[in-house]
Amino acid sequence: MDKRYTHLSDIQRDAREGTLTIGALIEHYLQNIKAHNPKHNVFLNVFEDEARQSAAEIDQKLQKGTAGRLAGLVFGVKDVLCVTDKELSCGSQILNGFRSQFTSTAVQRLLDEDAILIGTQNCDEFAMGSSCENSSFGPVVNGAGENRVPGGSSGGSAVAVQMDMCHISLGSDTGGSVRQPAAFCGVYGLKPTYSRVSRHGLVAYASSFDIIGVLSNSVEDAALTLEVIAGADEYDATVSTEPVPAYSELPATDKKYRIGYIQEILESNSLEPAIKEASFSLIEKMKAEGHEVTPVSFNYLDYILPTYYILTTAEASSNLSRYDGVRYGYRSGNSKDLESMYKKSRTEGFGEEVLRRILLGTFVLSASYYDAYFTQAQKVRRIIQEKTLQMLEDCDFVLSPTTPTTAFALGENTQDPLQMYLADLYTVQASLAGVPAMSIPRGEDLDGMPIGIQLMTSAFNEVQLLSFSKEVADM
Ligand code: GLN
Repeated sequence: MDKRYTHLSDIQRDAREGTLTIGALIEHYLQNIKAHNPKHNVFLNVFEDEARQSAAEIDQKLQKGTAGRLAGLVFGVKDVLCVTDKELSCGSQILNGFRSQFTSTAVQRLLDEDAILIGTQNCDEFAMGSSCENSSFGPVVNGAGENRVPGGSSGGSAVAVQMDMCHISLGSDTGGSVRQPAAFCGVYGLKPTYSRVSRHGLVAYASSFDIIGVLSNSVEDAALTLEVIAGADEYDATVSTEPVPAYSELPATDKKYRIGYIQEILESNSLEPAIKEASFSLIEKMKAEGHEVTPVSFNYLDYILPTYYILTTAEASSNLSRYDGVRYGYRSGNSKDLESMYKKSRTEGFGEEVLRRILLGTFVLSASYYDAYFTQAQKVRRIIQEKTLQMLEDCDFVLSPTTPTTAFALGENTQDPLQMYLADLYTVQASLAGVPAMSIPRGEDLDGMPIGIQLMTSAFNEVQLLSFSKEVADM
């Protein structure tokens, strides 16, 4: 099989017509993994035998007409999602040797519909990073250029879809970790509304931000995947019980939308010219289709990253306190007593960026600084949330580039954490506000690096977000 499928519906059509078996499809992905993984470092574990076995079962089910709705969908998961009996590393050494005791709800729901899990994907340690250079298993390399980062933290998940090593990936997005790598790798990246998808079995980074998202080669398959994974779950008390609409229907409308583009971003001199050009040429196309596109102002851009990094490091310092060398994972062999065991296990087990964030988070939560940093950041988050919701009352979608630059070179930003944090400047707003957003691939810069455009909309408005993304994809 040398065909590249971007839509599950084509896979299912060919399977029905007898020109494709799921067995052959699995071999195709396994071959691509074998060819690209040594250089691109995408998959940490490949479930070769189980994937082949599931494929054979699904081919039989297809013949009998008993297959689930995701038959033929082969997916990978960022290695922050639990799968029973499989190793779970979160890109870290601290979980050394750990195997999950249960499967995350999102993964289980895909499996229940006969999707096939092909493996677990490399990522920044505990999903902290914007380039996939913080993995303790080595960096992931972008398929668009040998020396370029894929973005992060779901970088492995993005490259897997970009290089056709699986059909879709599940990633997690706390401040942009699905959308930013999607933009860097030229694929679609959907971050749903906060609480739309159960977090049961997703390793916590910053719990008031974390959400599972989808990376795909088509809007249709992002919509279908969301439809299957979203909705109430008895294992997660925080998940929304809002009914799950039939996202995959992608209703075609002739509705003319109001779209606001953030002036401070798009008119800034520091935005890369190719990204600016891609954004404005899309805006012209939207206008030509009869949509109303106007500049909107958002005066809080300077506050977005400080607020995000205070709140997420605070939450992370609490969430990551469970890795103590006692219960599971890595335990230092050099300790003399209980206290040095805690200290050495954590110092040796965590990488530099995670240590930095735990220290920062512990600092902003400490008694003397709590009000000055944590309480203050919570107030600013509320203001950013309110202003964002106001913007979204005045327009149906807010448009911006997904990222200020295209994929940068490996090593370019590793010595400068602040420069690295800037990669999330445009994605973090939706995360602070808890609203959904989609990154849509839109051309390339002069070096052939993909560009992504982000659409953000109000909470639980994924139906419109997806159907308009589809319209944009065809523009
Ligand atoms: N790059 C951002 C961070 O490091 C976002 C990460 C994420 O969304 N998980 O926090």
